[in-house]
Amino acid sequence: MRQSWVGGNWKMNGLRESNAALLGALKGAEQLAGVDVAIAVPAPYWQQASEAMIDCAINVMAQSISPHASGAYTGDCSVAMMQDFKLSGALVGHSERRQGAGESDALVAAQFAALRGADLSAVLCVGETLAEREAGETLAVVSRQLVAVLEQYGAEALATGVLAYEPVWAIGTGLTATPEQAQAVHASLRAVVAAFDIDAANTLRIVYGGSVKADNAAGLFSMPDIDGALVGGASLSASEFLAICQAAGQIAL
Ligand code: PEP
Repeated sequence: MRQSWVGGNWKMNGLRESNAALLGALKGAEQLAGVDVAIAVPAPYWQQASEAMIDCAINVMAQSISPHASGAYTGDCSVAMMQDFKLSGALVGHSERRQGAGESDALVAAQFAALRGADLSAVLCVGETLAEREAGETLAVVSRQLVAVLEQYGAEALATGVLAYEPVWAIGTGLTATPEQAQAVHASLRAVVAAFDIDAANTLRIVYGGSVKADNAAGLFSMPDIDGALVGGASLSASEFLAICQAAGQIAL
């Protein structure tokens, strides 16, 4: 049995006033039974979100993190800074970081190590571009991204974590992988982990991301290897996000 997981990735959205309204609506929510929920907020608002979510089941995460402990890394934030604000973990390898900030598989693996070394959770994101899908390279790409972490840190480091399959062509585009397309990739990813460690493969939550909304979530969650969602745009609306959380809480994983 795997407890489902839903994460909201706010990306570079929100200001203090709108954040306060969103956080307030999430805090009082009753739709969170049976699902682990986290929100990944921009660094300037870690404190605001962390304080608002005290005594609430929703974890606050970073959207990216430096692999370095401290020092001359202008613009970066460290794991120790996350801990200072009681964050639970961070996204690593989001396609907007891989593509927009040129983050390599090796850097993503180092970020993963920095988080796990501090006993924080890492949500490892993998996904193929449209060109890679059309070239029939989906499984090769996502396996390469996953194995870059597995080979260095082993499957046990992932076992209690979350792996997010996010096809790049579906992120923020309104296009969603069909439940069957997503399931096929999730099953392959689980098989890759199983080749390293069968127990880790069984406990690892593999969630789907890419234009998940309240009205397509249940179809995705009906698939046996889809254990929840990483949600971008729809996480900025409390009602949409909570409806997705509720749908995830209703699946018997
Ligand atoms: C994301 O940012 O991880 C994401 C899946 O975005 P969206 O839901 O907007 O496609």
